[in-house]
Amino acid sequence: MPHELPKSYEPGAIEARWAEYWVKEKLFSVPTPPPGETRPVFTLLLPPPNVTGRLHMGHMLNQTQMDIIVRWHRMRGFLTLWLPGTDHAGIATQMMVERQLAKEGKKRRDLGREAFVERVWEWKKHYGGAILDQMKRLGASVDWDREYFTMDENLSRAVREVFVRLYEEGLIYRGKYIVNWCPRCGTAISDLEVKHEEVPGKLYEIRYPVIGTSEFIAVATTRPETMLGDTAVAVNEKDERYTHLHGKTVLLPLMNREIPIITDDLAQSEFGTGAVKVTPAHDPNDFEAGLRHNLPQIEVMDEHAHMNENAGPYAGLDRFEARKRVLEDLREQGFLVGEKDYTVALGKCDRCGTVVEPRLSTQWFIKIAPLAGPAIEAVENGEITIVPENYKQIYLNWMRNIHDWCISRQLWWGHRIPAWHCACGEIVVAREAPARCPKCGGAVKQDTDVLDTWFSSGLLPFTTLGWPEKTRDQEVFYPTTLLITAYEILFFWVARMIMFGCHFMHGHRQDAKLKQASGWCEKKDDSVPFRQVYIHALVRDAERQKMSKTKGNVLDPLEVIERFGTDATRFTLAAMAAPGTDIAFNESRTEGYRNFANKIWNAARFMFMNVDRINGGTGVSPVQAGFQQPAGVAGFGAVALEDRWLLSRFNRVAKEVNEALETYRFHEAANQIYDFFWGEFCDWYLELIKPRLAEGASPESARVACSNLVGLFEAALRLLHPVMPFITEEIWHAIYDGKRPSQSIALAAYPQADDRSIDLAAETEMAILQDLIVSVRTLRAELKVEPKQRVPIQIFVHQPEIRKLIEQNQGAVERLAGVEKVEFVENSLAKLAGARHTARFDVHVVYERKIDVAGERERLTKELEKIEKEIANGQRQLGNENFLAKAPASVVDGLRKRAAELAVLREKTKSKLEELG
Ligand SMILES: [Zn+2]
Ligand SMILES: [Zn+2]
Repeated sequence: MPHELPKSYEPGAIEARWAEYWVKEKLFSVPTPPPGETRPVFTLLLPPPNVTGRLHMGHMLNQTQMDIIVRWHRMRGFLTLWLPGTDHAGIATQMMVERQLAKEGKKRRDLGREAFVERVWEWKKHYGGAILDQMKRLGASVDWDREYFTMDENLSRAVREVFVRLYEEGLIYRGKYIVNWCPRCGTAISDLEVKHEEVPGKLYEIRYPVIGTSEFIAVATTRPETMLGDTAVAVNEKDERYTHLHGKTVLLPLMNREIPIITDDLAQSEFGTGAVKVTPAHDPNDFEAGLRHNLPQIEVMDEHAHMNENAGPYAGLDRFEARKRVLEDLREQGFLVGEKDYTVALGKCDRCGTVVEPRLSTQWFIKIAPLAGPAIEAVENGEITIVPENYKQIYLNWMRNIHDWCISRQLWWGHRIPAWHCACGEIVVAREAPARCPKCGGAVKQDTDVLDTWFSSGLLPFTTLGWPEKTRDQEVFYPTTLLITAYEILFFWVARMIMFGCHFMHGHRQDAKLKQASGWCEKKDDSVPFRQVYIHALVRDAERQKMSKTKGNVLDPLEVIERFGTDATRFTLAAMAAPGTDIAFNESRTEGYRNFANKIWNAARFMFMNVDRINGGTGVSPVQAGFQQPAGVAGFGAVALEDRWLLSRFNRVAKEVNEALETYRFHEAANQIYDFFWGEFCDWYLELIKPRLAEGASPESARVACSNLVGLFEAALRLLHPVMPFITEEIWHAIYDGKRPSQSIALAAYPQADDRSIDLAAETEMAILQDLIVSVRTLRAELKVEPKQRVPIQIFVHQPEIRKLIEQNQGAVERLAGVEKVEFVENSLAKLAGARHTARFDVHVVYERKIDVAGERERLTKELEKIEKEIANGQRQLGNENFLAKAPASVVDGLRKRAAELAVLREKTKSKLEELG
């Protein structure tokens, strides 16, 4: 019996098998569509993980949401392309390989550039696929045939093309500039790659003698070693304390250099002494002031942050050692006049934690304003929408204050800048290496810098589709539809893609039909890289703490998957992902969703067993046995109330789920499906149809019941598929076996609501029956009726049609509520003990407990003692400050909740004791 499911649900085996099947069968590959393609298009670019990456919870959330949206679109008939790939990740990868070399006692420079880069490629070949393999295991439905790597030859060629075009347009320039320099990584890093930390430090006051007078002028600094490179002292023009010193000079202590006193707004009268030192080569603000006043730029440190020959006697010292020595000497010579505690905002390298040094260097820049303008407009006028909406303002504020982008990095791994230098000073920027200098005919050497890694990833929405060639893929798939990403790369990546897209893809789309198919024909331009950006939340631990290695609270998604299965892990992330709130990941939730999968599994087994028996035990699949009804009104053998009800509910839930996914309310979609599948389908429907499937039922009725059951089950699987792709694929195949309509449930149609199947009457009737059954169950529990004991009930109803409804379904009421017999009475039962009344009926459970008063009193007294004891224990713990300080919040919280429950329990027990007298 090939369709039969194993007894126990074991996600590990099922998931690995389907993950492999999807990849091997190329189910999600999308070849270039031929002309005439008019299906609506859905394109999504995977934010490329670093090639050095390992899957973390953030990826897992990101990938789950992307895969849900992608599968949902594909099932709704969109031409759906999800593009995967990895980023070469300049610094990160270089560091990884450097570390590997260090173990062999070697350094990058021992190998030389070429051999080192060779070594990185070698590393990539062995380890670079790890994160994509992990993605495959998650079931990500990407087009693996289109996998890219940002250093691929075609992508590298596009990078050179962009560089050359921007250069030719005058938007790339080379300049001396103060950059954030990491002395450990030996490269410039962008503002975004600097972490700022407030640390206790000192503010030193140094006085400089004014030449030709007996006066001093005092300045304050937190980095005294940089004074060695001072080229002026600035005061504010309006500061009257210094008016008499305008035009004079000071003698720079330790260096004995004469430097001018200038007037500049850099100096503010209200801060400190009102005078500031100016070090153009080592501070960004001073650099600007230096340009205004034509001051020399004296660098006193080298690329390793060691003092250089311009630092006189301090040459060769590390910057911090130099600081100590400079301070000692200033103190000794009487120039250090103040020293106080001060909080310093220290910039550290995001990669390695080394203190960043502002440093003057020659770098390549993109003139950003001409690119930023259209990128601001695109978001302002709604060509790109950002969800949640509060990120729109954050984006706009940042873009309106954007600085030129330093794109060069002093690394070996990355896209080497396509510029060649000649000894005569000529620089050639070209797509291919020039043979010799066009000016003097001399030999040329390629620039040693590489491009910032975000330069190439910023181009991905079009370079992955064949740009700079004009391709059919671009026509069809660009602009991409959606980008799902993390907030932390909104500026690094998202903003740059928008700028590049708007600049290079202007008016690219010619095919009017496709414009129409993409549904955006009214928009003026198709240059934007995506229509919508969805910023997802963060995954935190169960205590809402940010996951971090130092705290030791990092959850490895692969371990969670190992324990509960990918489906359950995906479901957890979807069910907890309310927009705009972070997810406090709790494994107990995942365990609950594993149970959900288990429930579905058991329901499927129940179905297969019954269907096969009713079909005479032939062992063929339900569909081969002819049991398959579409879950729509047409052809549905909806004879019984429960069939009409479930079909109606299904269509309502389908409507709500589709609407929720449309607006990224993943949690609503997941919770709706959960309540439907577990609550309505398994707990009610399966119970209600049992008699129709039972032995001895009429064969005709049994066949209709089977068809409806199989049809609704199959439809519910399709509804659930985007969130739990594995278990749904497994059961779906078993339902069809040899008669599959497609290779995978992933290619089947997503359920859409059919208003004709909405059956208000059936929903209302079912609600009354459920209300009645639940009331009786509650009463039974309150009266402590033994679970197996059947009890008579009395019902009072005003309306004859409700009485008729209950009479027609009396069998179900008796079975599901453990009722022995039903008696309809003429008077209200509301006043009786052991009764419930609702607007439509009163119900009374006829049950008299014979209780042994003495025994009961003893039992209750013991129970009360136990409760009192637990209350005292809890109070002791909650009163212990030491415990409170150490215990996790969830434990404390749990204790508090328990205390409240215990108080209620104590009151209830006491009043029962009193009742006994
Ligand atoms: Zn660094
Ligand atoms: Zn030359």
